[in-house]
Amino acid sequence: MKKIALLALSCILITACSKQESVKQSEFMLDTICTITVYNENNKEKTADELISEAFELCSDYENILSRTIEGSDVYNINNAGGNPIEVSDCTIEILEAAKYYSELSDGAFDITTAPLSILWDFEGDDPHVPAAEDIETEKAKIDYTKIKIEGNTVTLEAPVEAIDLGAIAKGYITDKLAEYLTENGVTSAIISLGGNIYAIGENEIDDRPFNLGIQDPKAEDGSIIGYVTTADKSLVTSGDYQRYFEEDGVRYHHILDPATGYPADSGVCSVTIISDKSVDGDALSTSCFVLGLDEGMELINSLDGIDAVFIDNDGNMYFSDGFENGEIEYTSADSAE
Ligand code: ADP
Ligand code: MG
Repeated sequence: MKKIALLALSCILITACSKQESVKQSEFMLDTICTITVYNENNKEKTADELISEAFELCSDYENILSRTIEGSDVYNINNAGGNPIEVSDCTIEILEAAKYYSELSDGAFDITTAPLSILWDFEGDDPHVPAAEDIETEKAKIDYTKIKIEGNTVTLEAPVEAIDLGAIAKGYITDKLAEYLTENGVTSAIISLGGNIYAIGENEIDDRPFNLGIQDPKAEDGSIIGYVTTADKSLVTSGDYQRYFEEDGVRYHHILDPATGYPADSGVCSVTIISDKSVDGDALSTSCFVLGLDEGMELINSLDGIDAVFIDNDGNMYFSDGFENGEIEYTSADSAE
């Protein structure tokens, strides 16, 4: 009897050793839920749990530099300098250069100097509301990305610009840094998810297949998935009107603002997902395309190498970029995946 029990136990141990398991941790950071799941790593000194914890520490370091609201961050210092030059870290310069590039590419649809307007609408605060039209005009006049002056590691906001906010690009930038860190430390299979920013490192080495990254159904209240993009070593970022919004008099006001009007972008799309190698590109482009809308946005995406997109319009129609049409990327709807 005892022998049988022992034999059974050893079988369980062998199965436990041969069957890999994923290791997952979640934290509330960057004003959203961040989750890192490691499916495989070859680090002899550190466990997957330790590597994930270190990645979250790195995430917190970046948040302390790039957040608009954390006192003493680079962005806080830039916004509170009263127009004087401020010395900042290399990563802030790198992200500001990327933001400027996407402002130029999107013809100003993407603009981190929209900050005073976002503050006026108060999407992140306790009292989001539709501001008075004249206040919108006043804050709108403070938008102009060309007034961010960068010299070496020094940043100056010139009039009329008063503040910047990296909310539309920082999560993508940080996602790339975490992916780099985990890869350098022997992680070969993992998913990083910082709110709407997802990055797949390698393939799913437990199930031995590429990762299926889900696109949320913008019309479903329960966060269910409308379809999957099959990919390895790619980022998938979505900007949607359902992510942060408030309702007033039956109208939904969401947090992606059109710098040209000062009001939430009303381009006819409710969700834009970008698939790219770098998440910083996906983050900036998802916001840009949300403002630009389907025609201009899709034209922009199809003009860029190695970048693809899925647009969903207000009627729920889906539109796919050239990479899907010519078979470079695969999409499976949730209905047919079941
Ligand atoms: P999320 O951060 O919810 O994933 P986005 O990446 O689209 O969504 O970024 C939205 C955030 O970016 C807003 O909360 C605001 O801080 C800022 N923002 C809003 N409109 C713009 C814009 N047109 N260009 C750049 N940043 C913007
Ligand atoms: Mg974005």
